[in-house]
Amino acid sequence: MRAELLQKELGIFTFQDLLELFPYRHVDRTKVNLIREIVPGTEFIQVAGRITSVNVLGDKRTRRLVAEIRDGSGTLELVWFQGINGVQKLVQVGAEFLVYGRVGFFQGSPQITHPEIESLQGQGTERPDHLEPVYSTTEKLKIRGLGGRQLGKFTQTLFNMLKEKDIPENLPESIMTYADPETGVQKRWLGRYEAYRQIHFPTQPALYQAAVARLKFEELFLAQLRLGLIKSRRHRSSRGVVFEQVGEHFNGFYTNHLPFELTGAQKRVLKEIRKDTGSGRQMNRLLQGDVGSGKTIVALLAMLLAIDNGFQACLMAPTEILARQHYEGISALLKDLPLEVRLLTGSSKSKSRKEVLEMAAAGRLHILIGTHAVLEESVQFGRLGLAIVDEQHRFGVAQRARLWSKAEVPPHVLVMTATPIPRTLAMTAYGDLDYSVMDELPPGRQPISTVHRYEDRRPQVMDFIRHEIGKGRQAYVIFPLIEESEKLDYEDLMKGYENIKAWFPEPKYWISMVHGRQTNEIRDSNMQRFLANDTQIMVATTVIEVGVNVPNASVMVIESAEKFGLSQLHQLRGRVGRGAEKSFCILLTSPKLGKEARERMSILTETNNGFKIAEKDLELRGPGDIEGTRQSGLLNFKLANIVQDKDWLELARDRAAGLLEEDPDLTGEENRLLKAFLQSQHGKTAWSKIS
Ligand code: ADP
Ligand code: MG
Repeated sequence: MRAELLQKELGIFTFQDLLELFPYRHVDRTKVNLIREIVPGTEFIQVAGRITSVNVLGDKRTRRLVAEIRDGSGTLELVWFQGINGVQKLVQVGAEFLVYGRVGFFQGSPQITHPEIESLQGQGTERPDHLEPVYSTTEKLKIRGLGGRQLGKFTQTLFNMLKEKDIPENLPESIMTYADPETGVQKRWLGRYEAYRQIHFPTQPALYQAAVARLKFEELFLAQLRLGLIKSRRHRSSRGVVFEQVGEHFNGFYTNHLPFELTGAQKRVLKEIRKDTGSGRQMNRLLQGDVGSGKTIVALLAMLLAIDNGFQACLMAPTEILARQHYEGISALLKDLPLEVRLLTGSSKSKSRKEVLEMAAAGRLHILIGTHAVLEESVQFGRLGLAIVDEQHRFGVAQRARLWSKAEVPPHVLVMTATPIPRTLAMTAYGDLDYSVMDELPPGRQPISTVHRYEDRRPQVMDFIRHEIGKGRQAYVIFPLIEESEKLDYEDLMKGYENIKAWFPEPKYWISMVHGRQTNEIRDSNMQRFLANDTQIMVATTVIEVGVNVPNASVMVIESAEKFGLSQLHQLRGRVGRGAEKSFCILLTSPKLGKEARERMSILTETNNGFKIAEKDLELRGPGDIEGTRQSGLLNFKLANIVQDKDWLELARDRAAGLLEEDPDLTGEENRLLKAFLQSQHGKTAWSKIS
């Protein structure tokens, strides 16, 4: 019964699960406060008293149970919004309880919402003399007598049974010692058994800290080791097509048609790609570059390299607009070379579609550019050698895998991300990929000036747009349709569109709009008109976000900017600043801004560096919310946090890499236990599912 509940509510099936349910804090139960001692600013408090009233208030959505507890010194309100029926049975007038929780103030009087409570009925005054662990639990469990403290009694019982040999060491001796990242002092990790004991039942604060550090490190180290093993196995076992030579197409294009000098970063990445594709194993490389760092030309040169070696290449983009844009740009660049380049999207007409499929299958097509449509079964290549995925975060891992099943020997894969991912995140979420960074923008770019304005300044902002389009530039106005389906957002967009039309009544100015509710044809033709400078202002939702390149656009106004995340704002802003003219981004927000939103605005006005912004984003939102990693399941650490425990993560990565260098398969006697441990964990985690 209880076991069932524990499984259902907390996912606890085994002793190991129970051991790994780490307490989120410890309490000194010897300390009971008086209600009178609560002052504004009091955080957590434990009081003992008698219930004096119990009432259920409010209706449906505000329904809550409010109880008053009184000790000799004052009265405190206890409030429950959930599990009301259960609480009602437990909390009765006259009963005595020990109550613990976070103090809040409601209309000046202190209260605790969803406190931990423990009946004092029939209990002596005896109290444990050590720190007691408290575990997070659910309302349902609390009511069934499985509150955070009761769970502690289970772990206590468990520890009374377990011997040191039951929680054996899994780190080899070579990993047990380490240099403290802060001080450089040589240290030794706490043993595994001791670490588990101390984290649940600490005997001293220092030992508790050591236990937490050890278990966090262990978690990160094992994770890095698994990724490292996947990567090194792939490196050794995967066969890849070999691009032996740099040939006429690459060289011809490079010397005669390259419109600019490559940046140092672009050259470096090309070298890395050359090395990978010539090695005889499959390339699986993630290319991170800030918006506008020039990934497209790198992709094109890599494709020419494939063609020079007798292979076909494929470039996949997340939207029709982007695929078309790549197709047009690349076709124009290659117009003097004898190469077949085609576009395939969902809206390709069946006749041209048929032709494209035939050419691809016969090996006559050199470069195929397209959307998801290229993943379809019917698309077969004669000799696919390179698959490139642009703006990666829109594609799932499974889709990537489909790309390389399109050839007998898997093609090389280059994944290009639009938004930089912080290093720590890339290490954990993409640690199995090789990865390149382009942290340099082409020369001569003027930084985008970003300002933050309240909405009451809209008239001035509109005047500014008029000033810029008067000079021949173009402008974007973006509305936050986060969920394309949300009716309210949609109405805001239409209202905004009408307003802007009213601001610019001059017949010489044209305004277009794109959003997710339009058909592809309408959206595309509106986009094309803006691209051709037939319209001067583009009112849009975030469908515009990724990759669109209109170098003449110099103003980006983002309405309700507080509703967007940092990376998304940076990505939107990247739509301007692509030409020679000075560009501007104006973040419009309501004057009522929360602390975090204010911080986001100020980060954006301070920096244009996507890598810095990505780090901040990670700090503000935590790893769970960063786009593209949510589904990966790779960030579900029990204890460690890649933001706060960055140092441990770096250490773990270095140590894992070092160990694998010495013993790539962990076959050494000294690593036997570690290997056995990894194998025993196999299948329990999402790791085995990595593509
Ligand atoms: P992103 O990395 O965001 O995909 P793009 O590949 O679209 O960037 O490049 C942005 C712009 O910079 C394009 O107009 C491109 O022609 C230009 N560009 C790329 N590389 C260079 C370079 N080395 N020097 C000058 N301009 C460049
Ligand atoms: Mg791009």
